[in-house]
Amino acid sequence: MSAAPATSPSRSRDGTAASLLNDEERARIRAKSAQFAPPPAALPDGRRDLVGLSREELTDIMVEIGEKPFRTKQLWHWIYHQGATDFSRMSSIARPLQEKLAERFVIGRPGVVTEQTSQDSTRKFLFRFRDGQEAETVYIPDRQEDRGAVCISSQVGCTLSCTFCHTGTQALVRNLGAAEIVGQFMAARDSYGEWPSPKGETPRLLSTIVLMGMGEPLYNYDNVAKAMRIIMDGEGIGLSRRRITLSTSGVVPMMDQCGAELGINLAVSLHAVRDDLRDEIVPLNRKYPIREVIAACRRYPAASNARRITFEYIMLRGINDSEADARELVRLISGIPAKVNLIPFNPWPGSSYRPSTREQLDRFAKIVMDAGFASPIRMPRGRDILAACGQLRTESQRLRRAAGQPDAAPEAEDAGT
Ligand code: SF4
Repeated sequence: MSAAPATSPSRSRDGTAASLLNDEERARIRAKSAQFAPPPAALPDGRRDLVGLSREELTDIMVEIGEKPFRTKQLWHWIYHQGATDFSRMSSIARPLQEKLAERFVIGRPGVVTEQTSQDSTRKFLFRFRDGQEAETVYIPDRQEDRGAVCISSQVGCTLSCTFCHTGTQALVRNLGAAEIVGQFMAARDSYGEWPSPKGETPRLLSTIVLMGMGEPLYNYDNVAKAMRIIMDGEGIGLSRRRITLSTSGVVPMMDQCGAELGINLAVSLHAVRDDLRDEIVPLNRKYPIREVIAACRRYPAASNARRITFEYIMLRGINDSEADARELVRLISGIPAKVNLIPFNPWPGSSYRPSTREQLDRFAKIVMDAGFASPIRMPRGRDILAACGQLRTESQRLRRAAGQPDAAPEAEDAGT
């Protein structure tokens, strides 16, 4: 990771100057992100993938091949409502056009390398994309009801090197494209046969999305935003913005943009309440310190008592789990509609951290709860299939290496952010 500037641009005392500087910072983040762009969504034979295109792009393509713009509505329905992957299934489209579409286009899905189901019913998918890169997606069913969360990856690798995170030990290879992000969700739904897309308040098995898999979604904002707009579109998958949560380590300028443009729920990986410690645990803090991250949460437009911001807090024994830390956490988030997810640390080889004791977890949770914030202790799910937080892909890679198999593709150098 590159050295962080001593002063963040948004620290200006002048509000206008701060927002201009934030625009500059957003442009810088986007330019960096473009260096890790995904490959074009096309097959070697030249056929183009229709998944991941916006409605406008789909219309342009239909017009390009001499079709009327209303074809977009038909295709959208078949692709995202019915889940069709074969043009011949599209009964509202005449056979000659079905054939014309099949000659030029595909409705893609990532390839399923492995699909494992845990004893607790958590299901983990290892998906492979067209260039051989891989990412993992996890479905975590609710323990009581027929619903559950799909945890989606946004990048292959990660630049942020959070010290508690095993996943973060992998250098960033590239961003995932909109087709690959939507494709993870669609392929998971294929696995459960949840097509056509349930309408309105009809119960769904795959009922929420959390952008908490591999990668920092706000360092791939354009692709993530495009994918979420497709998923939220009411004539297709139609998942409400209230059912989507983006988890960030605190990329402040993009938090503002995400709130203004997408209005989805926000989760923040806080993990420490003092800058000196957070600088070490979440190195992005050197660029966007706690004060700025919390200020961005206070102005996040989608936050309300019904849609609270989630603060993720990994419990590391003797590092960040004291009662004084808990009290400082309460002070920091006071007045924000929030809940705190306490995450027991999952030890991995090479990490010097140890998990907090159960007693300390309970003491910490009680202080936060007594201050009026829900503070569930998030029990790890899917441990037996290595689907728990921070285990994604690292373990798949390690097992593959142990079995003498090569990785999917060489990793690019981590250019940092
Ligand atoms: S916690 Fe998230 S942002 Fe931090 S290194 Fe791990 S994958 Fe990257």
